[in-house]
Amino acid sequence: MKKVLVVACLTAFASLSYAEGAVKWGYEGNIGPANWGDLSKEFATCKTGQVQAPIDIQTKQAGKNSAPIKTNYKASAGEILNNGHTIQVNLADGGSANLGGADYKILQFHMHTPAEEKIDGKSFPFNAHLVHKSADGKLAVIGILFNEGKENVALKDIFAAMPAAEGKTPLKAPFNASAMLPSSLAYYNYAGSLTTPGCSEGVQFYILKTPVELSSAQLSSFKKIFPMNARPVMPLNGRKITEGS
Ligand SMILES: [Zn+2]
Repeated sequence: MKKVLVVACLTAFASLSYAEGAVKWGYEGNIGPANWGDLSKEFATCKTGQVQAPIDIQTKQAGKNSAPIKTNYKASAGEILNNGHTIQVNLADGGSANLGGADYKILQFHMHTPAEEKIDGKSFPFNAHLVHKSADGKLAVIGILFNEGKENVALKDIFAAMPAAEGKTPLKAPFNASAMLPSSLAYYNYAGSLTTPGCSEGVQFYILKTPVELSSAQLSSFKKIFPMNARPVMPLNGRKITEGS
């Protein structure tokens, strides 16, 4: 009798999470960013939020931020996930970054084309968001902008293995997130949100000023899977942007 009850509960839980996961959203048409807030009650913040990401960073308005970014990343096992919206690399134990004076553990990074953040109206073809979490549950994202140019060696194995359909595959070799970073960690900081539904706020963004490169072949291999997976820039609503070096 007990066993039957457990099975019934698991089934109920599974169908509930399926129902939540089944709210279909995307980047174009009726299920695109302009309508995210209406697709589900859980997505309301996408419409009502006042500190949403991404933004167009107006560099002339940036005040000074004295805290430099320090990273303490290390090689980690992980998996490459196609979640239907992006390619995401989950890192089991990838080390940490010190952002705004606080330590955050890196959880994953994922990619967008074109880049979500703009700098003084300029758009970039691609970006990576490195997602971190502090011990008290706060989220912080380091954004890396990409120009088209040389092949990105750090991402080579990941691009070779990324699943074309929803699913995941283990990393063949441990990945160190520091391999992706540009030479300078000078940054723009702003307070924002997740850039995907439910768009929850309280996320600090550190967008690195120095872009890195990926080859046009790498960019088109990503676009074959996700032709466009960037949310448009959102209103600043009086937020302060700071910059640090
Ligand atoms: Zn992102």
